Amino acid sequence: MKIKRFEDKQAFSAYLADDKHTQVHKQFEQALMKNRQDLDSFTLDGFCQACEKPQPFIVDKLYGSQITEQGWQPNWRERLSCPECQLNNRQRAMIHAIKHALTQVGDKSALKLYAMEQITPLFQWLSSHLTDVECIGSEYLGEDVTGGTLVDGIMPAMRHENVEALSFADDSFDLIVSNDVLEHVNDPQMAIKEMQRVLKPQGQVLMSVPFYIDREQSQRRAGIENGELVHHLPEQYHGNPLSEQGSLVFHDYGWDMLDDFRAAGFADMALCQYWSYFHGYLGEPQYYFHATNT
Ligand SMILES: [Zn+2]
Repeated sequence: MKIKRFEDKQAFSAYLADDKHTQVHKQFEQALMKNRQDLDSFTLDGFCQACEKPQPFIVDKLYGSQITEQGWQPNWRERLSCPECQLNNRQRAMIHAIKHALTQVGDKSALKLYAMEQITPLFQWLSSHLTDVECIGSEYLGEDVTGGTLVDGIMPAMRHENVEALSFADDSFDLIVSNDVLEHVNDPQMAIKEMQRVLKPQGQVLMSVPFYIDREQSQRRAGIENGELVHHLPEQYHGNPLSEQGSLVFHDYGWDMLDDFRAAGFADMALCQYWSYFHGYLGEPQYYFHATNT
């Protein structure tokens, strides 16, 4: 997987405007869909990094396909699902990035990974396939629960963590994986400091988060002020299997979010852009964030 790293908005805007890169990818995706307009679903052959073999990735109209002037367009990020491991484009790309990050760790004798998710297909995959890595996952189970608590009754037991106040010791992990969590946190600076604290020196963060690539500044949608929940913008919720209401979005992030990582002691926070037909990573632009602890 070819990764391009961008540390600021100017560099990424220049990339997006460059015909050589994004336009070729977009034209390719449009041509691909042009011949498939009468199909509700189809497969594209590619190489699954999770299964480590070729697979026919499934593309259909689920999870936000759109009708444009050119006809229906899939939500590439959420589809291209592997029929065997069931993981979609962004999940397989995250596994790809995790595998690569683990190869970068100097001392591989006691590898330890923390994922800010536990009851997800991605964590299932990590804990069953990364056999030489101790994988700890957690969910947020409410403000009254003490960090580190294991809740029985659900098998395997679910671990509770509040990412603003993690229960782990300093220098615990080689890698932290955080997928679409930071937008739901009241105090992201605190959460970023906590990630820095529990990571070993040179430990890495791999993160996805809804991101406004054309915004320099992040915007607060909601906040806890004097113990009260205050809304600054119309309420927005994301699906959460543990809550009927879903998870409230506290922040819309722009590029200053990367500065918060640098301020907390991360050396090289960057947006990592990827696209690969071979691996089934379509949909320009696709990206995640990567940072290394000092
Ligand atoms: Zn697979």
